[in-house]
Amino acid sequence: MTILETPKVQRDVDVVWQNCLKIIRDSISEQSYKTWFEPIIPGKLEGKKLTIQVPSQFFYEWLEENYVQLLRKALDYAIGREGMLEYSIIVDSGNQKKNEPPISINMPQQNPSAGRADGNGRADSHHTNEQVRNPFEMKDLDSLNLDSYLNPNYTFDNFVEGDCNRLARAAGFAVASKPGVTSFNPLMIYGGVGLGKTHLVQAIGNFMKNRAVNKFVLYVSSEKFTSQFINAIRNNSLQDFMNFYMQVDILIIDDVQFLSGKEKTQETFFHIFNHLHQSGKQIVMTSDRPPRELEGVEDRLLSRFKWGLTADLQTPDFETRIAIIQKKAQAEGISIAYEVIEYLAHSIDTNVRELEGVMISLLAQASLTRRDIDVELAKSTLRHLIKDSEKEVTIDTIIESVTEHFKVRIPDLKGKSRLREIVLPRQIAMYLAKELTNLSLKSIGYHFGGRDHSTVIHAIQTVNDLMDTDKDISGAVNKLLKVFRK
Ligand code: ADP
Ligand code: MG
Repeated sequence: MTILETPKVQRDVDVVWQNCLKIIRDSISEQSYKTWFEPIIPGKLEGKKLTIQVPSQFFYEWLEENYVQLLRKALDYAIGREGMLEYSIIVDSGNQKKNEPPISINMPQQNPSAGRADGNGRADSHHTNEQVRNPFEMKDLDSLNLDSYLNPNYTFDNFVEGDCNRLARAAGFAVASKPGVTSFNPLMIYGGVGLGKTHLVQAIGNFMKNRAVNKFVLYVSSEKFTSQFINAIRNNSLQDFMNFYMQVDILIIDDVQFLSGKEKTQETFFHIFNHLHQSGKQIVMTSDRPPRELEGVEDRLLSRFKWGLTADLQTPDFETRIAIIQKKAQAEGISIAYEVIEYLAHSIDTNVRELEGVMISLLAQASLTRRDIDVELAKSTLRHLIKDSEKEVTIDTIIESVTEHFKVRIPDLKGKSRLREIVLPRQIAMYLAKELTNLSLKSIGYHFGGRDHSTVIHAIQTVNDLMDTDKDISGAVNKLLKVFRK
């Protein structure tokens, strides 16, 4: 479409759209707002009809599917009941600006069969070049599962959804359903260790592989990519390497932070990336940090990362931890009492991998010792694991050291006593738990006889105040802190 409005008219459009955004911003999360509404450009206003420009067909579908009521509400507010909305789709989904010239790429050899993406993001993709050798078949690479490097155990079905991963999962699913066509290209998933990045992107790969038979899906870790690249140089087969990657329809590259500081590898990846992206192929990446924090990654590559969608995975909250434990138990075909699940979810708050590790040990313990899985067994398993990894800061070790120091008994500390000689150590233990672990107030309360989070807050405040006013207490607390912060 063309925009030929006079400035005044353009102003009206902007005002109307800003009014719409006011309503929208208040109704959805910051992340959703950024993802779905910031990229929209107000187009024109004809009478009561507002036209907005969206980056792709998929974007339009998503808005219609998920935000139609919200948009209605916004129009009611900004224009009135008769307000109407029309979409105009900007054809080139890759570029932000409509008139940006196509990115020029300078490659050793262009794959002649790859065409430019048209409006539907489709491109022809015959794999005619018989000469191309698969770098996975090149020397020193393991021969397992040569085709895609996908582990079929990672699926969407067994990826538990929660607030911590909702956007990433939804985007992943959208991409898997319509590779290359959504505005999520590239899709960049980031998050700390053990939070499910590999699981999620493998799920995308598996889903696509099962659906689209003639699509070439490839999963590769950035380390593997780097070592293949180095080998290709050594063996004079860089051409094969490039040609191979340029035939991929869906490239999943895991842990791109490993490309940091590897200039030549990045350069090559950059060419491959541009080629695939321009041919309407899907690229999915993961990283352990957001793109802006990737040090030693060239700016031009970073700006490419920003074309699509960046979605993060966060530490699972309590409810999601419960759901994950239940799902894993179910997958193992065992039933675990809810109180044990609750105990685990309250005690492990780092990441999903650790949660899984504890469950595996717990199951092993139970079957070795022929014991039922109960809270006691969970406790001792946890204690063993923690000893092994020499991370002795746990809620139980904190409680133990406090009770030793103040010469009180553990059941009293967790009990109901209101005697000052019990209350103070209890409050100090809660304070230490907050200082030394990542446990939530709710989880800390749970470990102290099921107290609620306001009691924990009160305890922390009391100790904070006493630390300023009472030398004995600040001395004791600091001494205990030192024990753990060696
Ligand atoms: P990362 O790649 O972020 O380090 P992984 O994808 O390897 O993490 O996940 C670690 C483990 O946790 C895997 O076994 C994975 O299956 C599991 N996991 C992570 N997130 C979830 C989830 N939301 N639901 C179920 N399992 C999960
Ligand atoms: Mg991983």
